[in-house]
Amino acid sequence: MSPPHPETICVAAGHRGAAGEPVSAAVHLSTTFHQGGDYEYIRDASPTIEAFEAVVGALEGGHATAFASGMAATAAVLDGLEPGARVVAPAVSYPGVRGLLAERAATGALEVTLVDQTDTEAAIAALDGARLVWAETPSNPLLGITDLATLAAAAHERGAAVAVDATLATPLLQRSLELGADFVVHSATKYIAGHSDSLLGVVVTGDEADRRTLIERRALTGAVPGPFEVFLGLRGVRTLALRIERGQANAGELARRLHGHPAVSRVRYPGLADDPGHELAVRQMSGFGAIVAFEVEGGAEGADAVCAAVRLIANATSLGGVESLIERRARYRDEQHHVPANLLRLSVGCEHVDDLWADLERALAAAG
Ligand code: PLP
Repeated sequence: MSPPHPETICVAAGHRGAAGEPVSAAVHLSTTFHQGGDYEYIRDASPTIEAFEAVVGALEGGHATAFASGMAATAAVLDGLEPGARVVAPAVSYPGVRGLLAERAATGALEVTLVDQTDTEAAIAALDGARLVWAETPSNPLLGITDLATLAAAAHERGAAVAVDATLATPLLQRSLELGADFVVHSATKYIAGHSDSLLGVVVTGDEADRRTLIERRALTGAVPGPFEVFLGLRGVRTLALRIERGQANAGELARRLHGHPAVSRVRYPGLADDPGHELAVRQMSGFGAIVAFEVEGGAEGADAVCAAVRLIANATSLGGVESLIERRARYRDEQHHVPANLLRLSVGCEHVDDLWADLERALAAAG
């Protein structure tokens, strides 16, 4: 039998299938288990967590370890480095990760070099002496695309490991391990759980020994996710393929319409033929995702006015849920140097595209 398609893995993986067992995974709230079986204490492992890990691992083609959040997953990868190790990371990425790296650099725990990883030559030139390359592609919120295969090959030649935050790509649109990553990190809070109601992270590795190390570290630091969150992640991932299909179709259409709108000065979406990341995204991804970033006329005030005028789209942070969310990212101090003041990040959900467009058109008119 040929291996199942990702859509099927989303729905079917992680089911135990033994006679008499429930078809939908049960939520195991118990923190402790009768001795002599597979489980002892929830900080080490639980059937609910393992069911979630089985699906995400199967989707990525590796071994998954679930964490309490995307940040906990990120910290677990960084904690595997020896003191003072050099990490090369993107100059523009999710600010939480940049903040964590900056804190580690300030205490001397790590040495951090930031580089524009959409410039492959510059990214490779920064590699000497690195122990880890941290990448984020597509990047949040500028949607820059990093050439993972080339960067990973160059990193491995120099003895550095590669971790990629593939939250925006999801496990469905980018085969990060096949492209050369050693660790794939997701904020499962976003697309994997998919309903803006569960804080969750995951690290996937190609190497079973790396996974065992991550599980031990997770037990030591207590960065284990709660059973309800994991259950919501497991429930959410069942529809990941459907949500991505609709969200990305909506995003492509909205990007095209925004591109021709007089109140919009720039649209960033790797699916647009004139986007700087387009060619690479075509090669490296099987779809362009459901985030669109666009810059509006009227600077920060114009962008804030759009956020205030939307009705269907929620003006809220985060991304990857069934509902569409919009946010001016430069309102955060740690984004101000990296992100244009008038840039709006739109996480496109599963509503009807014409309703989303009507809301955006009205909000752009109200702001103008
Ligand atoms: N990585 C990316 C790309 C993100 O967008 C986020 C959160 O927005 C994180 C990591 C952190 O994830 P979490 O909020 O689940 O800790």
